[in-house]
Amino acid sequence: MKALIEKQRAFFLTDATKSYDFRVSQLKKLKTLITNHQDEILQALFVDLHKSNFEAYTTEVGFNLRSISMAISNLKKWMKKKKYPNELFVPFSSSYVIAEPKGVVLLIGPYNYPFQLVIEPLIGAIAAGNTVIIKPSEFTTDTEKVLEKLINTNFDEAYLKVVKGDASVTKALLLEKFDHIFFTGSTRVGQIVYQAASQYLTPVTLELGGKSPTIIDETANIDLAAERIAFAKFTNAGQTCIAPDFVYVHQDVKAKFIEAMSNVIKKRYADRASFGRIVNTGHFNRLSGLIDEKKVVLGGQTSKEDKFIQPTLLDAVTWNDPVMQEEIFGPILPLLSFTNLEDVISILKTKEKPLALYFFSENKTSQKRVWNALSFGNGAINDALMQVASRHLPFGGVGHSGFGSYHGYFSFKTFSHEKSYIHKSTRFDLKIIYPPYSAMKLKAIKKFIK
Ligand code: NAD
Repeated sequence: MKALIEKQRAFFLTDATKSYDFRVSQLKKLKTLITNHQDEILQALFVDLHKSNFEAYTTEVGFNLRSISMAISNLKKWMKKKKYPNELFVPFSSSYVIAEPKGVVLLIGPYNYPFQLVIEPLIGAIAAGNTVIIKPSEFTTDTEKVLEKLINTNFDEAYLKVVKGDASVTKALLLEKFDHIFFTGSTRVGQIVYQAASQYLTPVTLELGGKSPTIIDETANIDLAAERIAFAKFTNAGQTCIAPDFVYVHQDVKAKFIEAMSNVIKKRYADRASFGRIVNTGHFNRLSGLIDEKKVVLGGQTSKEDKFIQPTLLDAVTWNDPVMQEEIFGPILPLLSFTNLEDVISILKTKEKPLALYFFSENKTSQKRVWNALSFGNGAINDALMQVASRHLPFGGVGHSGFGSYHGYFSFKTFSHEKSYIHKSTRFDLKIIYPPYSAMKLKAIKKFIK
């Protein structure tokens, strides 16, 4: 690890990664490689998580290709020195901010979108002019192998390198000094990463998870809410960081919502062959244990052999149930009901800030109230999940769900240091700021500094 990091640091210090031409050529190369190997990537994602080609393309391969295209078309603009207004006390000068690369970056990825979630930050790190060490999840071994092949056979390890292995490899990497660590994964490991980074004061981005609430009030378009919530929850068999974790539904529309969900599940998710699978037996067992048979109103079937869990709805769930004690991260959707929106707001205010929050309502006053009262990383009104599809919005958590953000320009910003400076003329000098200081000088300066 040490030798690899030293090699990358030595390469970074040559300034070779800093020019526009170098960055753009590497982004183009990455795009060509992904395009040419897309079938292999889709196949790996099928083996690892049973993702259909449509799902794997839209949420991983195609998602990244769009981001690379955006980075290529905007890189010149992003790299451009930005001019800022001048200050009275710094006359005859200009104020600027220039984005400079941070240096050697470490990317640590999770298993649920094992390709997209390392390539997406990689795009930002390359665009910003860094060298990168990538540690993909060890749970999705086929994708890990494709990533290794794609990167390690096509790029010099002094620039980009995939390092394979389990948590012990990540731990070993974390002993070393990086210039930025970008971690996507659980809150538990996020804390380990943050602690390790503090040793060198390394800046970190923590893209974590948590329990993302969905609220449906009595004015909501229930059929559409069911369609959109089902899509957000059952994509990748619920293994999505911003999937609705649980639903708070108004008592008056609960029965209607359950019926609408039942229709959507029959229509769209009955075909087991194209439904995702749980990543491994450990997670399958954990999830199966969260299904309280007495509370199942839809689904509930599981099959250990192929790690399949049916889309499952649990009714009459309370905060004391096991399913409400941790992030679910599977196709199990608990329903809690309410009669007064203010009660929901009060309860959610006592919980950790979630990565996402969704509110289905036609009532504009309630929409404003929820948005103003609750803090969360990102979200949607009358939709779920699709906020992540915007390359123009920053994506990230707040509080317990992490900090820092990325996507589009925000990825470039995350992996850059914004170096601010003034460029001053030598033809004039403001002598009043220099000592010795007199009472008269102070009186004069007070006219300006107030
Ligand atoms: P994880 O935290 O278990 O693992 C992520 C990475 O950390 C892996 O590469 C692993 O090798 C490493 N790791 C594991 N244990 C470690 C240890 N003790 N020390 C050092 N490194 C260690 O996460 P996961 O199970 O792969 O992913 C699921 C979690 O990720 C969920 O909580 C989910 O919400 C979250 N997630 C968040 C986002 C986001 O964008 N915010 C996206 C996807 C997933």
